Amino acid sequence: MTTPPVNPSFGRMLWRGMIKHCPRCGTGNLFTGWFRMVERCPGCGYRFEREEGFQLGGYVINFGVTEGLACRASAGYTGAAAANPDVAVWPVIVGGLVAAVVTPIVFFPFSRTIWAAIDLVLTPLSLVEQAEAETAVAARATSSDERGQADSAP
Ligand SMILES: [Zn+2]
Repeated sequence: MTTPPVNPSFGRMLWRGMIKHCPRCGTGNLFTGWFRMVERCPGCGYRFEREEGFQLGGYVINFGVTEGLACRASAGYTGAAAANPDVAVWPVIVGGLVAAVVTPIVFFPFSRTIWAAIDLVLTPLSLVEQAEAETAVAARATSSDERGQADSAP
């Protein structure tokens, strides 16, 4: 049985999101694949997709990070070209294209858990959501107990 989660600070929840952990309780293993997030946190029962469209916030974060990298590369090239007009542009184009494709893939799960942290700060869990989370944890504990007894039965 896990201990009931306390109300962590925004910084702590954001940090947990950055390391792909549950912002509410800090439990990891929230993904069954790189792009597949579990429905509920295995530690506290927090349901990540609290309403339809939850993914949009993660998408916006992912898009912002990718665009931020592209802007940095562009600004770096502009600075280098200002200092030396003969500097080659092809490394920036190739690097920008690779970053535009790779960054959203690599950052995908982080964007989801970071958004979960921000969403939790903006809209704290209602009493109904807290009760559902506790019920989900209790149901999982009960089913694992029953499995344990079934495994040990002769
Ligand atoms: Zn959790």
